[in-house]
Amino acid sequence: MDRSANGSSWLKDHDLDRLLMEAVQDHGIMMFDLDGNVIRCSAGAAAMAGYGRDEALGRHLSCFYSEEDRRSGRLEEDLAKALSEGHCQSERLRVRKDGSLFWADVVTSPVRDEQGRLRGFAEVARDVTERVTAERALRQSEERFRLLVAGVTDYAIVMLDPSGCVLSWNQGAQLVNGYEAHEVLGRHYSCFYTEEDRRRDVPGTQLAQAERQGRLEVEGWRVRKDGSRFWANAVITVLEDEDGELCGFAEVTRDVTERMELLSNLKHQALHDALTGLPNRVLFTEHLRQALVRQDRHDHLVAVLYLDVDRFKVINDSLGHQVGDRLLVALGERVRAVTRPEDTVARMGGDELAVLCEVADEADAMAVAHRILHALKDPLSANEHELVIGTSIGVALTKDSDMEPDRLMADADVAMYSVKERGRGRVELFNDAMRARAVHRLDKELCLRRAVEQAEFRLYFQPVVELDEGKTVGYEALLRWEHPERGTLGADEFIPLLEETGLILTLGQWVLAEACRAAASAARADAGASPTMSVNISSLQVVHSDLKTSVGRALAASQLEPDRLCLELTESVLLDDEEHTAHTLGGLKSLGVKLALDDFGTGYSSLTYLQSLPLDAVKIDRSFVAGLDSDPGHSAIVSSVVKISEVLDLDVVAEGVETSSQHQALRSLGCQLAQGYYFGHPQPAELALA
Ligand code: C2E
Ligand code: MG
Ligand code: MG
Repeated sequence: MDRSANGSSWLKDHDLDRLLMEAVQDHGIMMFDLDGNVIRCSAGAAAMAGYGRDEALGRHLSCFYSEEDRRSGRLEEDLAKALSEGHCQSERLRVRKDGSLFWADVVTSPVRDEQGRLRGFAEVARDVTERVTAERALRQSEERFRLLVAGVTDYAIVMLDPSGCVLSWNQGAQLVNGYEAHEVLGRHYSCFYTEEDRRRDVPGTQLAQAERQGRLEVEGWRVRKDGSRFWANAVITVLEDEDGELCGFAEVTRDVTERMELLSNLKHQALHDALTGLPNRVLFTEHLRQALVRQDRHDHLVAVLYLDVDRFKVINDSLGHQVGDRLLVALGERVRAVTRPEDTVARMGGDELAVLCEVADEADAMAVAHRILHALKDPLSANEHELVIGTSIGVALTKDSDMEPDRLMADADVAMYSVKERGRGRVELFNDAMRARAVHRLDKELCLRRAVEQAEFRLYFQPVVELDEGKTVGYEALLRWEHPERGTLGADEFIPLLEETGLILTLGQWVLAEACRAAASAARADAGASPTMSVNISSLQVVHSDLKTSVGRALAASQLEPDRLCLELTESVLLDDEEHTAHTLGGLKSLGVKLALDDFGTGYSSLTYLQSLPLDAVKIDRSFVAGLDSDPGHSAIVSSVVKISEVLDLDVVAEGVETSSQHQALRSLGCQLAQGYYFGHPQPAELALA
């Protein structure tokens, strides 16, 4: 097409220049005639497409369009739109001279002459490659993010509008909550909360809190479509637009039921006894603390019952731990069955249970205790055994809400202890005298423990004499406490407490070792003599320690001949568990040591014992010896014991001989051995055994 023929004289050059001058630097202006050939071109427009200005002139517009736009007729579309609407704005991919592409924002307008005839088109273009690429990248990443969110299955990711209605629902939400997207879009998200949470407006409160804080993490029960519950961990984040206006919430939720159950199991384990499933001491104390706080508001008393099985140890030792364990479980169940659901029944350790109840008065508390005691009169089954157990219950109660839980528990314990002291199988209510006794006892116990640690104990030795010739044939080792303030204390002053506290078990071993050592060194010093060493053994040592091993060790360490050692037992040892005792005594005899029955006449003094147990000697209690001078009955008793012993081939030792007339009387009754101040007081080794 001929440019001049087409006629462009209507366009004044200086006008165009002005136009071009006015064009902002990054804009390019181009005009083309009705055939689409460039007739004017600003330097910017040419440069944008990589041409020189003159080079661009005369080219057809289409060579600036991308292949794709050309093929799909975009050029024609743009021109038609410019014609019909006065202008057309579009974003098009353009081609530079070198074939590279760039994005241009193009405004195309029709150009008319003064008569209004259409002459061609003008376009103002701007290179917007940077912006468009950035926008495209953003769109792509948004799309990727959308796909990612949609594909996440472990997390429910839900978008809510500012009022809390569901805007989007990913696959995770579907799996976690059970609803499909179309079922929940537009619904208020409170439908995933429990009925109770909805009543308390938990959902609304949480959104409000999230809005205030920007982010909120919460845990709680949520409800699935099928009505089942799961424990959810949810993070709610606030979504805001560019102006900082709230435009919704994003909630990311995870089903953490398993973790929660694990934690609550661990918590349960920390607060409950594994064997019986009952609350343990920690939980009991906590319940007690709460009950004491409640007491402030209500008019009732808080009572603690401390319950201990009598002689549980014997059951455990004789029938085995499994039976013992089953028995404790049955005990817990029985006590639980006769108490109210709101009472706490706890296992405090070992064979001790505690019951916490809120009662109207003292009588009420005692009634609960008696009800338990009564219920425990029926046998409990433990494996194949039906066992009748005795229980002792101590009760303590208070109106004082400031009372420390530990104190009330200790009071109940003291009351229980008092039952044990004064005959088992009963209930006692705590009183202050009990506490005074307990405190006194505790003081003494502390002193004793310290004394054991500081090794303040010593052995004294008292000679055992052969009455005909007056020869010393043995010694009895007697324990003394060299008290730093009170001087040397006799055994009667501390042995009972050593037994109660179990300290006798440790100290008893020391006594055995020390007595054997002393006897062996005396025998080495005087090779001609071969005295026997008698050692007192507590019944606790027979029941609760491996006596055979202790004795064996003491003999081995001292190299004392076993038949030089005589163990003195009292009849109380036979009361606990005859079978076990017989077994232990048999074991001791097998070591070759001698056994004597001490204090004969003060206990049951059953003649059967004398015959059935593997004894070597009987010691007649000093109360009978003391009465020899005055009471003919005592002479008769001593005489019969001597005669029976002869038949059973047992030695007889008379204890506590203080006078020559007692000495004579014993000789005439046929007694051959004796001990007593008359022959010698108990003395330290260096004096007695020298
Ligand atoms: P026991 O075995 O009957 O010991 C004899 C007690 O009578 C000793 O008292 C002794 O000092 C005392 N006695 C000795 N001759 C006479 C006397 O002529 N007149 C009087 N009135 N008393 C005399 P002790 O040492 O106070 O011991 C008391 C009890 O303590 C002992 O009675 C024994 O059952 C126990 N005992 C002593 N030492 C030990 C020990 O090492 N272990 C254990 N488990 N018990 C011990
Ligand atoms: Mg003795
Ligand atoms: Mg005695």
